[in-house]
Amino acid sequence: MRFAADRMLGKLAKWLRFLGYDTTYCNDLSDDEFLAQVDEERILLTRNTRLKRHVAQGKLVFIKDNDPKIQLQELVCGLGLRPEPDRFFTRCAICNEVLEPTEGADVYGRVPDYIWTAHDRFFRCRGCGKLYWEGSHLERNRKEIKRLLGKKEGA
Ligand SMILES: [Zn+2]
Repeated sequence: MRFAADRMLGKLAKWLRFLGYDTTYCNDLSDDEFLAQVDEERILLTRNTRLKRHVAQGKLVFIKDNDPKIQLQELVCGLGLRPEPDRFFTRCAICNEVLEPTEGADVYGRVPDYIWTAHDRFFRCRGCGKLYWEGSHLERNRKEIKRLLGKKEGA
């Protein structure tokens, strides 16, 4: 399932990318440009009630809450999504491109030394080149995801 988030949903887009969902987000699209993404087989996510009537049912989800984490729960619940833990952190949170594994040697000099010495596995974004590694940051996000999605199942 692929998504397009409107300009008010940047943080939700980030969370969806963490979960491995292909999610576009661009904060300077016109309404028409945003709506056109439905042709790319994307589900449109918006907080703009005005847009609802332009799109066929099932192609657009109106997000009610203000809080990105509750928005994520709302969406996962509403669409009955089953995020695959294997796909978590396979996409760049910044630009949505797929990450690929890269060798420590390629990374040398591009991350702080203490990171380079402490980690063996790195991932590089094919789009923007940003480097990722398993560290406290990912660990924290993983826990947060577990908490958010766990709550949903109990509801
Ligand atoms: Zn990127």
